[in-house]
Amino acid sequence: MPDPLLVIGAGLAGCEAALAAAAQGVPVLVREMKPLAYTPAHHSPLMGELVCSNSLRSDDPTSAVGLLKLEMSLLGSAVMRAARATAVGAGKALAVDRQAFAALLDQALRGHPLITLESVAVAELPREGLCVLASGPLTTPELAADLARLTGQEGLHFYDAIAPIVSADSVDMAHAFWADRYADGEGDYLNCPLSKEEWQAFYQALTTADQVPLKDFENPRFFEGCLPIEVMAGRGEKTLLFGPMKPVGLVDPATGRRPHAVVQLRKEDHEGRLLNLVGFQTKLTHPAQERVFRLIPALASCEFARLGSIHRNTFIDAPRVLTPDLRLVSAPQVYVAGQLSGVEGYVESAASGLLCGLNAGRRARGLEPLLPPPTTALGGLLGHLGNTVTKDFQPSNVNMGLLPPLPPSPQRLSKKQRGVELARRALADLLAWMEQSGLTPAMQPPSL
Ligand SMILES: Cc1cc2nc3c(=O)[nH]c(=O)nc-3n(C[C@H](O)[C@H](O)[C@H](O)COP(=O)(O)OP(=O)(O)OC[C@H]3O[C@@H](n4cnc5c(N)ncnc54)[C@H](O)[C@@H]3O)c2cc1C
Repeated sequence: MPDPLLVIGAGLAGCEAALAAAAQGVPVLVREMKPLAYTPAHHSPLMGELVCSNSLRSDDPTSAVGLLKLEMSLLGSAVMRAARATAVGAGKALAVDRQAFAALLDQALRGHPLITLESVAVAELPREGLCVLASGPLTTPELAADLARLTGQEGLHFYDAIAPIVSADSVDMAHAFWADRYADGEGDYLNCPLSKEEWQAFYQALTTADQVPLKDFENPRFFEGCLPIEVMAGRGEKTLLFGPMKPVGLVDPATGRRPHAVVQLRKEDHEGRLLNLVGFQTKLTHPAQERVFRLIPALASCEFARLGSIHRNTFIDAPRVLTPDLRLVSAPQVYVAGQLSGVEGYVESAASGLLCGLNAGRRARGLEPLLPPPTTALGGLLGHLGNTVTKDFQPSNVNMGLLPPLPPSPQRLSKKQRGVELARRALADLLAWMEQSGLTPAMQPPSL
């Protein structure tokens, strides 16, 4: 029998990883600090606790997160099985009875003959033996410090702010232009100009919009270099006009003049399908963000691939410190799963746990790793973790912008049609890849 695989943390990613490895006949030792100690967000002694909402978001397989759930179910995800078994009515979303959900995962771990559970707060990563690190965004400081030592301090982030991302093809190009300030560069920024009147309406809306209240443990002191946009705005009108919205060095080709203010968008991926609002990290509520940011003329009807948010988080600079199969470059026996690896959200955390458990189990059995095709939602998430284009890597939810575009079609597809086509391609590619890899679908694949 192979040596036991150590899994640190039994949240969504850890449960999924442990069960995926054990399903291959690999013994697993899970070290989870509950119930001896709790992070500020965890309260239940059960494994697989959902720390906040009970929703696993859209269940429509033609949405990115719905597709991800479908792919995970085909691969035999224990988290998805538990979610289906404990689902509560939530319209088109999949929401669960959180207590029953965690109880099922807890039982699955405790009742598995190959899994041993130990209550201990791990302070150091093992230097030998296979391990899946899944201690989450609120990893204890000692363990985070050890991870920082292994990755190099710069590779480990404690962030509290992320900016929204929009899909490039939803930006109104009649109100935007590509250029670098002072024409110094290759035109890497998509500039969204505002006239004086547009700026005043935007500023007024921004400074009066609703903000998400922070939890006690979420330190409201922000890094000066990464202040939320509304905090900057609160310091006075000029702060933004001399800061992220400064118009200097730019001429709007539509007017031949320097705009009053500018929002700059920067590519998030190689192909530029997704664009980040530079300097727009925010803790406004989601409805407030959609309303306020759509006052920027170029973004009036944009699609948000991700909205901005703020909370304490620990994650690694995945593109620079992880191998394609999610092991640390500097300690290749350690897989990193869950939110700590740089994915965002319950489903995404479980998905990365599933991939780590699958591959750690294979490695323990002397087999090569398996990586899902980039056209799948799972492959798209892996692509995000390996995306070296962004210098300032930030965690992301799964979204269709992470998948390679469809071949050009004679007529413009609606968002819904594009989702259907992307999901059909993903499902076909996933099933073909599973067959080639000798993996049997855990359920009858649906027709999309
Ligand atoms: C406050 C907050 C609210 C969130 N709300 C949502 C939401 O509503 N919807 C959503 O989709 N996502 C949400 N997220 C983001 C994310 O999806 C969740 O944090 C998710 O639970 C991450 O899964 P995980 O398995 O990576 O980590 P976790 O689920 O946090 O699991 C990590 C486990 O590791 C244990 N652990 C930590 N340190 C150690 C140690 N040193 N030794 C042993 N065990 C340790 C913890 O006790 C925990 O059980 C939220 C995050 C936070 C911080």
